[in-house]
Amino acid sequence: MYSTSYVDDIRQIKEENPFESMMSRFDRAAHLLALDPDLYAVLRVPNRELKVYIPTRMDSGRIQVFEGYRVQHNFARGPAKGGIRYSPDVSLDEVRALAAWMTWKCAVVNVPFGGAKGGIICDPQVMSNGELERMTRRYAAELLDFIGPEKDVPAPDMNTNEQTMAWIMDTYSMHARHTVTAVVTGKPIDLGGSSGRREATGRGILFVINEAIKRFKMTPAETRVVVQGSGNVGGIGAELLHQAGYKVVAISDIHGGIYNPHGIDIPDALRYLRTTRSFEDYEGVEFVNNQELLELDCDVLVPAATENQITSQNADKLKCKVLAEGANGPTTASADEILHNKGVFVIPDILANAGGVTVSYFEWVQDRMGYFWREDVVNERLQDKMVASFNDLCRYADSHSVDTRTAAYMLAIDRVAYDTRMRGFYA
Ligand code: GLU
Repeated sequence: MYSTSYVDDIRQIKEENPFESMMSRFDRAAHLLALDPDLYAVLRVPNRELKVYIPTRMDSGRIQVFEGYRVQHNFARGPAKGGIRYSPDVSLDEVRALAAWMTWKCAVVNVPFGGAKGGIICDPQVMSNGELERMTRRYAAELLDFIGPEKDVPAPDMNTNEQTMAWIMDTYSMHARHTVTAVVTGKPIDLGGSSGRREATGRGILFVINEAIKRFKMTPAETRVVVQGSGNVGGIGAELLHQAGYKVVAISDIHGGIYNPHGIDIPDALRYLRTTRSFEDYEGVEFVNNQELLELDCDVLVPAATENQITSQNADKLKCKVLAEGANGPTTASADEILHNKGVFVIPDILANAGGVTVSYFEWVQDRMGYFWREDVVNERLQDKMVASFNDLCRYADSHSVDTRTAAYMLAIDRVAYDTRMRGFYA
């Protein structure tokens, strides 16, 4: 029986609210762990939430004020860590959920960080490079007292990249009066970035899928994969899966996807997407929309776009054996039970996409040492972390007789709770 613990009826939560989705899973895991009520009360809320207004000079000469956030969810195991996203859809609730997921993610892969997330409500598609730079620098300036290598270390997320990180690093360094590379990760390699960081989330997904298909006695060549998204996670993930011999049968971008049951030449399709900015008119494929794509016949489904893609409305229609969550929160809490009952093997987001933050950790370590590793060393250490974490999670799920989603939350909460108890509450 799939008991819903502290949340009386999981269907009563607002399904589309990622914070409520996260909290209902937290509550369920806390209940199964019989978490001490004091720890429960502390871990249920973020440590700190910052809201900043960001005056930005636009190319027109006028000032536009953007609203931004940085939520620092937890510091029990080390500096807070997590990306910054730019999107018109950013909200405090979304950033809160994403910050908490960073705490649980870092705990699942056992890297010594807490969790944080930032976001600015803006539409980067309609902003010039100069406007983006000025907005980013002012946002960084507003966060100066709260970020730092020992405090909170931002990284890229949706619609931010190496350039964004370079601007933040420079702004922070100008105020510190010396170069502080370890204040952000996901930087350009020449500015203290790590080899392999850009590909790390996609590569991490490949490593956990490699482990998951062994459970089904399948080989890459006979495994059909559907990927939703073609950005830093989906695009690179699909490319690496293709390289490793998987048959990627569908891939999409924000406008829709392409499908060929015999497999798609992913490097070619992505080249096409980069030049034409759409998959439209790509030859030898069938076109599907992003909802149809999720319901295609396949062995492994990799939602690597955004939240709330797999819900109580479509979970029952999924045909995959394995769901490898490349995005943060692609599945709502209400869909969990449906997937569980269908026997879909879920590699939860807080494990599946943890390759990014794992190599962010490596980048932070390298910056602090001032000594940089070869790419094959980074990739090998990433593989060790992902495979060990996958196996820890499966063992935990088996020994506690719970599904992998619940196991991931239980494992993470257990680790953070242990460290919080050892440090004491200072209350
Ligand atoms: N934005 C990525 C994530 O959601 C990476 C975060 C980081 O490297 O700090 O996991």
